[in-house]
Formats: sequence, C-alpha cells, structure tokens
Amino acid sequence: MLPEIEQLLILQDKDQQLRRFRNDLKKMPADAEAAKARLAAAAAALAAAKEEATRNELAIKALELQIQTRRNTIVKLKTQQFETRKNEEFTALAHETARYEGDVAKLEDEEMALMEKGEVFKSLYQEAQDHHAATEALVKEDLGKIKQRYLNITAQIKEFETLRSGLASRVPSELLERYDRILAGKGDVIAELNGHVCTGCHMKVTAATFNEARAEKQIATCPNCGRMVYIAHWDD
Ligand SMILES: [Zn+2]
Repeated sequence: MLPEIEQLLILQDKDQQLRRFRNDLKKMPADAEAAKARLAAAAAALAAAKEEATRNELAIKALELQIQTRRNTIVKLKTQQFETRKNEEFTALAHETARYEGDVAKLEDEEMALMEKGEVFKSLYQEAQDHHAATEALVKEDLGKIKQRYLNITAQIKEFETLRSGLASRVPSELLERYDRILAGKGDVIAELNGHVCTGCHMKVTAATFNEARAEKQIATCPNCGRMVYIAHWDD
C-alpha cells in the first residue's frame, strides 16, 4: 500500500468518527425535545383528567343544591297543607308535594349516576397521576443521559480534532487540500477497489485506473466519483 494512502486512511478514520460524533450531537436537541414533549403530553392528560373529575363533582354539587331546594319547598308545602282548612287546597298542595317528591327522586337518580361516573373519573385521575409521575422520572433520567452524552461527545470531538490536526500536519499540503476537497464533497475520500469496482461509488473503474492502483507508484483516482482508490490485497 502506498504510504500516503496508509496515512490518509488513518486520517479518514478520524474524520469518519468525527462526523459520527457531530451527527450524534446534532440529534441531541431533538431527542431532548421529544423527551420534554412526552412529559408535556402526560401533564396535559393529567390536567384533562382532573378537569373532568372536577366538572363531575361540580355537577353533583349543583344537583344536591337543586334537591335541597326542592326538599325545602316540600317542607313548606306540607306545613301549608296541614294548616289549610279547605279541602280543595289540601288536595292541590298534596299534588304539588307529590310532584316535587317526584322531581327529587329523579334528581337523586341523576346524582347517583354522576357519583358512579365520579368513581371512574377518580380512578382515571389516579392513573393519570401515576403515569405523569413515572413519565417525569423517566424524562428526568433521559435528559440527564442526553446531557452526559453531550458532554462526553463534546470532549471526544475535542480529542479527535487534536488528533486529526496532528495527523493532517504530516500530510503534504497539496495532497491534504485534495483530500479535504473530496471529503467536503463526498464525506469519505479513500475507497478500496473490490476487483475492478470502486467501493465508494460501486462503479467499475477503467483498466488504466486499476493498473495504476496496482502499480502503487502514485495515487489512483476513480474516474467516476473522484475518490482515491487503492487495492488492499490481490493475488499475483
Ligand atoms: Zn468511485
């Protein structure tokens, strides 16, 4: 293998690791946002469950008030009924009382139904509370991990950048410029030839390129993608 290729392969390895680190770093804000969104969704579900339970409680209280009002009326009507001396009025008041008692029975049925619903709402609210608490703990843990990963990767990037510039400083400047230009365009620079096929672009190279790579007198270039190509092993 040409010593330049060997040198550039080590450089390329560092560049590829740096690219992976930087990509990881780029994904982190989205990961953190997703974790926060999970918590926000749990909080919204909790608030909705609470609101539903509260609305039901208020409806029960309103019904109780209506029932009480009617009961007060019934007491008044019964008093009037027993004070009157007119038969007609007595009967009318008895009818009126029966009507209010009917109302009370209906309202009490409604109240019972709401109370049954209330039990369901209460357990749903409890579930939402548990889910929110569990999510909060998980999200906190996730955010902590993301932060730790961020610190680790940032430190690794620094380390690899130092390593990279040390390696790059030993590459002849003209070759390094060529390397950097291909790196910026393709993401990788050196490709092995697999038979006559460039593993960078998966196209067959010309016989001239293949022979140039095999001769190892100078760096051969894939005529299709422009990557520097080399042959790692061959049988002859
Ligand atoms: Zn190629």
